[in-house]
Amino acid sequence: MAEAYDYVIIGGGMVADSAAKGIRERDEAGSVLILSEDVDAPYTRPALSKKLWIDDEFTPDDNDLGTVETTSAELRLGTRVASIDRSAKTVTTASGDTVGYGRLLLATGGRPTRLDLPEDDRVIYFRTAADYRALRSVAGNGRHVVVVGGGYIGSEIASALAQNETRVTVVFPGDRLGDSVFPKKVVDLYEGAFTDAGVELLSGRRLESGTVDGDGVHLTLDDASTVDADAVVIGLGIEPATELAEAAGLTVDDGIVVDERLRTNDADVFSAGDVASYPDPILGRRRVEHVDNAYEQGAAVGRILAGSDETYAHTPYYYSDVFDLGYEAVGKLDSSLTTVEDWKDDESVVVYYLDDGVPVGVLLWNVWDATDAAREVLAKAEPVDPADLRGRI
Ligand SMILES: Cc1cc2nc3c(=O)[nH]c(=O)nc-3n(C[C@H](O)[C@H](O)[C@H](O)COP(=O)(O)OP(=O)(O)OC[C@H]3O[C@@H](n4cnc5c(N)ncnc54)[C@H](O)[C@@H]3O)c2cc1C
Repeated sequence: MAEAYDYVIIGGGMVADSAAKGIRERDEAGSVLILSEDVDAPYTRPALSKKLWIDDEFTPDDNDLGTVETTSAELRLGTRVASIDRSAKTVTTASGDTVGYGRLLLATGGRPTRLDLPEDDRVIYFRTAADYRALRSVAGNGRHVVVVGGGYIGSEIASALAQNETRVTVVFPGDRLGDSVFPKKVVDLYEGAFTDAGVELLSGRRLESGTVDGDGVHLTLDDASTVDADAVVIGLGIEPATELAEAAGLTVDDGIVVDERLRTNDADVFSAGDVASYPDPILGRRRVEHVDNAYEQGAAVGRILAGSDETYAHTPYYYSDVFDLGYEAVGKLDSSLTTVEDWKDDESVVVYYLDDGVPVGVLLWNVWDATDAAREVLAKAEPVDPADLRGRI
């Protein structure tokens, strides 16, 4: 075998960064190789739809996580791993290079859900820094961009564009923006921020097809209406990138299945982040596509790779910001559940989501430093009297 490393990380995202740093907490000298399909060194993804659009002082260079500088890991960009041979303990790249590993981390994240649209610079599936650059180049100067998807990514992109001299139309299947997760009064605030900023909301519709020509993109929706624009950006969520794990015979069930030590069914192969299905101590087995999980699980798996006997016991929170609104949340936000609202003032509220009377999610809308308190409410996992919830946070 030509070369071998103590630790090989497949994927060059936020987990790769935090895992390499986690390894260094326990092992200063072990060799670390990061193989990444991305063309950019690890960076924070949340900034791609927020800070880079609204903070003139913050540049893409500031968004670099400094992985190599901090950890002296070797990073190979534009390198897709095509297969894993667990008995030989090697991985092989798409260009045919084979590398040995002592321990292997799968941090392959996810790939954006695609639609049947032409391949074109003006059709952007938003996930990477390259997608951010592509969107920048087709936005601004009064141009018209259609955002497909009204989830948190689509909403953040719409907010970013609307604050950057871009005419924005959002196409989404729900009745109102945010109505699958927030109760009505919160939806009023959320949706109001978009309409106040002049964003056009095409609710109750899905994008069906589209063409591209010299004039721009021409989209047809499922009610047969059409929208012409300069570009279209798609934010419809991700599919976990599990194909390598599956082909290598690792257990996959909506994500690469790991135990509380983030280990797969192979004792030398681990997984973390958006691609991993892990047993959360409070919320049960799940796959989490959020950044707090990427940081915390990545750091934990790095330490575990390097010999720590810890278990991963952190229940992640998640957050989103649009315009001047922001929230944090823990657990399940689903507006079809029973909700209990505890308004602190006209713009701040804690919402508890109850399933059969048991709190399963907490939304902290414009309420800060309260994620530990939210976890405490969920950890009890017993039916509550809604009246008792008010004032708990
Ligand atoms: C625009 C945007 C905004 C976000 N904002 C928020 C937010 O506000 N709040 C929040 O909580 N979360 C947010 N998130 C989610 C958060 O960024 C992710 O949860 C986190 O980045 C996941 O990290 P990861 O390392 O697991 O996966 P990723 O960051 O997806 O990294 C996966 C890496 O694996 C590589 N890869 C995949 N397959 C291969 C292969 N075969 N060979 C080599 N490399 C491979 C990819 O190229 C990539 O480098 C946002 C995400 C996006 C896209």
